[in-house]
Amino acid sequence: MFENLSERLSGVFDRLTKQGALSEEDVKTALREVRVALLEADVSLPVARDFVKKVQEQATGQAVTKSITPGQQVVKIVHDALVDVLRGEDDPGKLKIDNPPAPILMVGLQGSGKTTTTGKLAKRLKEKEGKKVLMASLDVYRPAAMDQLSVLGAQIGVDTLPIVPGQKPVDIAKRAKQQATLGGYDVYMLDTAGRLHIDEVLMDEVEQVRNVVTPRETLLVVDGLTGQVAVEVAEEFDAKVGISGVVLTRMDGDGRGGAALSMRAVTGKPIRFVGLGEKMDALETFEPDRIAGRILGMGDIVALVEKAQETIEAEQAERMMKRMVKGQFNMNDLRMQLEQMLQMGGMQGMMGMMPGMGKMAKQMEDAGLDDKILRQQIAMIQSMTKKERANPQILQASRKKRVAAGSGMDVSDLNKLLKMHRQMSDMMKKMGKMGKGKMLKQAMK
Ligand code: GDP
Repeated sequence: MFENLSERLSGVFDRLTKQGALSEEDVKTALREVRVALLEADVSLPVARDFVKKVQEQATGQAVTKSITPGQQVVKIVHDALVDVLRGEDDPGKLKIDNPPAPILMVGLQGSGKTTTTGKLAKRLKEKEGKKVLMASLDVYRPAAMDQLSVLGAQIGVDTLPIVPGQKPVDIAKRAKQQATLGGYDVYMLDTAGRLHIDEVLMDEVEQVRNVVTPRETLLVVDGLTGQVAVEVAEEFDAKVGISGVVLTRMDGDGRGGAALSMRAVTGKPIRFVGLGEKMDALETFEPDRIAGRILGMGDIVALVEKAQETIEAEQAERMMKRMVKGQFNMNDLRMQLEQMLQMGGMQGMMGMMPGMGKMAKQMEDAGLDDKILRQQIAMIQSMTKKERANPQILQASRKKRVAAGSGMDVSDLNKLLKMHRQMSDMMKKMGKMGKGKMLKQAMK
């Protein structure tokens, strides 16, 4: 077995370095290897097939970047596409637990790490968000499970609902709700009973509990090492009780995490956290980048992706530079510059970084020259057609009206932008005439 996908792909691509663009045939060949890598990482077959098809469409015809190999480039495309599928919520660690007391229902098979995760999450809510948490075990079949939760509670300093022998799960849930309300808790977590396999009785029970407390979050805990089984479990639980998110446990093991991709693709539910060990603080917010790297089986994927990104940006800048000195600075180039300014923290950010410019930054802010303007200018360029962006001089009255209206601005604002563009491109033409060598000297003065 190859250790990583990059090695696999370099074999495929050795014969075709520097061809200009990725051809359909090359991409197909490469993606066969990608598919094998996905299956080895435990991604289910239909999900791997769909995913590869999608990437195939994206990758074919993409220009080959100069200083990375086509193999690395495909890895980057695949990596980005994986992150795309895996990304669920902006902030997966943020649970919907306003309106106290907010019930969180924990569901999953026995042995998945449900009780452990309940404790980990309670600790996190208490320590990171300052919540007052109550935990209750509904596992009436295994008294040891109830004791386990109490022991965990004592260990992390979180209250647990006193155990009353002989009570049914639904009654325990009601009691937890009552206690949480009376005791002024922000959150109460219900650790439901798990079984070794999905069965009707278990599902009915969870459903009844759900109806009694109307949980704000229903989190499914699944063992990340179980691959395909995890996906089936997720589908069943989602169909019967409806889940709001997934916690993948045992991601500290050697599993490749393919279950994450399948689960996300099949249920569409966000993965919120990953369990990374038995200790109570071994719980982390889900990060799509990391899992994507893991699925591809490469530790250095992030560095590779960053390198590729830098190269792509450098090539864009080089192309722009060439056009600039030829006096071909168009609206697309201007937009790229404006976007770069925004990325660098906007005008004030840039000024603020330069010694002695702090005061000026403040003046600019007072004059209304801030990020908002940059964004408005970008919006105006976005409202132009492709032709207009390449040749802004064709923007006459009616076109100007359309562009201004399309971006919610006035024609006078658009005129200012066009004037700025003219001035910049004039200046660049002059610099171009001076020649590259002189220009550099000028810039260094
Ligand atoms: P439950 O039956 O679903 O409640 O499972 P438990 O919470 O009792 O966990 C079963 C076993 O898995 C325990 O030994 C836990 O310590 C262990 N476990 C839980 N989560 C993780 C994890 O993220 N990583 C590892 N390595 N072990 C875990």
